Amino acid sequence: MTGIRFEGVTVAYDGNVVLDKLDLTVAPGEVMALLGPSGSGKTTALRAVAGFVRPDAGRVFLGGRDVTGLAPHRRGVGMVVQQYALFPHMRVDANVAFGLKARRTPRAETAQRVAQALEMTGMDGYARRYPGELSGGQQQRVAIARALAIRPDVLLLDEPLSALDARLRSGMLAELARLHRELPGLTMLYVTHDQMEALTLADRIAVMDRARLRECGTPRELYRRPRGAFTASFVGNANLLPVTVTEGGVRFAGRRLAVADAPAAAPGSPATLCVRPHLVGLGAGPNALRGKVTEVQWRGATHRLYAEVAGQRVMADLRELRDAPALGDEVTLHFAAEDAVLLPAGEPADD
Ligand code: ADP
Repeated sequence: MTGIRFEGVTVAYDGNVVLDKLDLTVAPGEVMALLGPSGSGKTTALRAVAGFVRPDAGRVFLGGRDVTGLAPHRRGVGMVVQQYALFPHMRVDANVAFGLKARRTPRAETAQRVAQALEMTGMDGYARRYPGELSGGQQQRVAIARALAIRPDVLLLDEPLSALDARLRSGMLAELARLHRELPGLTMLYVTHDQMEALTLADRIAVMDRARLRECGTPRELYRRPRGAFTASFVGNANLLPVTVTEGGVRFAGRRLAVADAPAAAPGSPATLCVRPHLVGLGAGPNALRGKVTEVQWRGATHRLYAEVAGQRVMADLRELRDAPALGDEVTLHFAAEDAVLLPAGEPADD
């Protein structure tokens, strides 16, 4: 069983730091998602584990062994990228056997491992096809089979589903979860900009923003108790209200709101109050806010209401309403003190 450890890993291109002192530990058998917007350094971190990027500073460990200077093919990692990267002139079985051939695996063992990898990915009936004769989803399964055939300790996945359409994506997500249940010892590092993929698949999520790691935690922790506004808005939707800390609560739009957590900041300091839209109710209640409806979206099972409250936009996701308010209506919204999370006014890493 092999975990991954980044110790102060820094990568720069032409003096531009694209990965800034990354410290992160992935436990053996864990599925860790690297989640963040495009350009935040996720792929660079993944490639540092694979050995395709040499850090300018810091070290990468696999299973406790320093692999920073080790050639990629000696690291025991499999990699799956967005664009499948199959060899078009080779049949599926030859594609899957590729890494084994390169490692001079005996022929009988190669055949057995190829068959097993294809079976594991549900592609056993396609061994003699060419990649061009397969759908995008099937090609990605072959790419996963190819990565698994070498029996890696660590599987690196770089936006593996982003070339697929939405319906296929959710099917493949379930497949990857099943695969991990079948191979519980396999450590997975999964790069994505899609919060749904990270929330669904990962044991923990590392949130990346502008070359830095913002926060790392279980999906539940990051969703329920984000520590910063960036994470709050990147992992799920969030209302982020600028508030002022008071004795035992906060002030917003001239009125006092109750929050369950005792604010860490001194009275008078600015802070950001985070409330998830599905925890905002319509009508009178605790922490009531008066606002004007600026948009109503019917989403089938829910209505998404946008209201302007003291110049701030507040979103509420409500169970489908019989009598939805109309544009311009005055409404009262409310939320429970326990459902509000108080965050620092600025991002901690902005300093
Ligand atoms: P992400 O995976 O989060 O989208 P990347 O790690 O791919 O981010 O890239 C981070 C930054 O590094 C981007 O600004 C990108 O343009 C830059 N970058 C990545 N690879 C190279 C390279 N080989 N040469 C120069 N700049 C690069």
